[in-house]
Amino acid sequence: MTDDPAAQTATETPTGQDPIVTRFAPSPTGHLHVGGARTALFCWALAKKLGGRFLLRVEDTDQKRSRDEAARGILDDLAWLGIGWDDGPEHQSPAGAFGGDERSVGPFYQSQRETLYQTFFDRLLERGLAYPAFDTPEELAAMRDAAQKDKRTFRYTQPEGYDLESALERAKTEEHVLRFRMPDEPVVVRDLVLGEITFTSEHFDHFVIRKKDGFPTYHFAVVVDDELMGVTHVLRGQEHLNNTPKHVGLMRALTHEDGTPFRVPAFAHVPLISNADGTKMSKRDKDKAVKKAARDAKREPADLAAACGLPEGHLASWFKDKSAQLELTALEKLGDDLGIELPEIEVDDFRRAGYLPEVVNNFLALLGWNPGDLGEREDGERFGMAFLAERFEPGRIGKSNSKFDREKLLSFNADTIQHRMTDGGFADAWRGWCKQNDPGVLEDFGGRWLLAARAARPRAKTLRDAADPLRFARIDATRIEYDEKAVKKGLLKGEPNGLEVLSRFEAEVLGAGAAESDPLTPDRFEPETIDARIRSFCESHGLGLGKVAAPLRVAITGTQVSPGLGETLALVGLDGVRERVRRCLKTHRTRDDSA
Ligand code: GLU
Repeated sequence: MTDDPAAQTATETPTGQDPIVTRFAPSPTGHLHVGGARTALFCWALAKKLGGRFLLRVEDTDQKRSRDEAARGILDDLAWLGIGWDDGPEHQSPAGAFGGDERSVGPFYQSQRETLYQTFFDRLLERGLAYPAFDTPEELAAMRDAAQKDKRTFRYTQPEGYDLESALERAKTEEHVLRFRMPDEPVVVRDLVLGEITFTSEHFDHFVIRKKDGFPTYHFAVVVDDELMGVTHVLRGQEHLNNTPKHVGLMRALTHEDGTPFRVPAFAHVPLISNADGTKMSKRDKDKAVKKAARDAKREPADLAAACGLPEGHLASWFKDKSAQLELTALEKLGDDLGIELPEIEVDDFRRAGYLPEVVNNFLALLGWNPGDLGEREDGERFGMAFLAERFEPGRIGKSNSKFDREKLLSFNADTIQHRMTDGGFADAWRGWCKQNDPGVLEDFGGRWLLAARAARPRAKTLRDAADPLRFARIDATRIEYDEKAVKKGLLKGEPNGLEVLSRFEAEVLGAGAAESDPLTPDRFEPETIDARIRSFCESHGLGLGKVAAPLRVAITGTQVSPGLGETLALVGLDGVRERVRRCLKTHRTRDDSA
């Protein structure tokens, strides 16, 4: 340890033999937030750029809030995004197999590393750098109040007259925490994003490093693990910036068995992600959206309680308390009941809403980072993981918060689906989404899957909305409802009108008298053949394509908008087309006569 604050910097990145290691260290208390996903993506990109390793560690020391299921969900979301980790829990997913412990630095769940932490607690205790503290919550509150009265910030330091020996004796039988004697000297951090930051010591206190339950606090576990796992670069959200001097203090105090000190990694703190209105993008936004809709609809807690199956009292207090959050399932039920979509906040929300992982990554990478001068490259904002891995530079991360622009994300997604994917690639991605989220679509299109994908892709913005324009092909001919405007325009107007054209089409192309030289048969009922047959029908009657397309669209779908004509017909099959055309003629002929 040195008295010269300038020498106490956080830029002494280990060099030489050690590999570069970045890490993402989520706490498994819920779904993976997009902010967390962006941190993971940047850590991944930095490791790739520097030829290093990306490590994943699950920070589950908070026994009350950590859930196994959340940890699994986070691994799964990262795998889905294609942010694969080299070191960490082993995970198999359709996106690949990730993790493993090639460098023998695991286990990767902090809850399984208790004995390791104990060694380092003991070492600090031996050197008098940590001490047990027995203050009750009431005593701590009184200290805080006293500080507030004196208008000073409360910071815990060792009580006067504290005797370590008797405290250690007392600790054998009494509940206590362990506190770290944080050195009373400034800490300078040279951050790769924020530059040099000096933390002066007036805010430092003797913080808790081991909780009453024996588990390490986040500060302690993170420092020990980063060192033992060989982490060289700590890139994380800016909400952790004020924790950094604590961590550096611990790094300076901790040593290995042979006396070698801990190393100080390089730090990079990335700004937060905010909503379009500048507020922090948080899970609470879902609660906010539901509360607003309930207020607008003047709904009472009793009524809401019935909709989501929770007790009325619970709903009433949630409604009043701005920061209270409901379980996601309850919020979803309420959202359905109120007819609103919950805002997407977590990776899983975007996944279920039909966004493509490569698009989410591309969009997240641009939240606070930019690739700089792209020279000849057109469309500089659209790139994939390989480009990011090659170009990533923490120095190009902005210092201010980035706004989450939902429209931009949606337009990226639509652009990728419509212009950057093949029919086959889209069919695969859509199939994967439907399997998880809407298996009915898969069942309905079955063997016609590629055809459905081809029909849906040109207008799909997400995998979720892709099936919307194909509804006509998923229902029985008898359930087609004819849109009044479409009927007037497509069937009843003009000379000859749509009904006449349809009638001729029926007779010449579909009916018994269909042209023998060029018949449409069920096994030749493909978009290209159909389009060619329609074209020759138009030519032989001197009709423009629109004149034939309009009544056919009304007959098959009930509307004037549908996918490409050949695809629309192919999707319902030759018999389906016959049935729909005949039903349409039958339904509207009478109207024509009376018109
Ligand atoms: N478990 C911490 C979190 O989820 C990680 C913080 C860090 O990266 O040091 O916020």
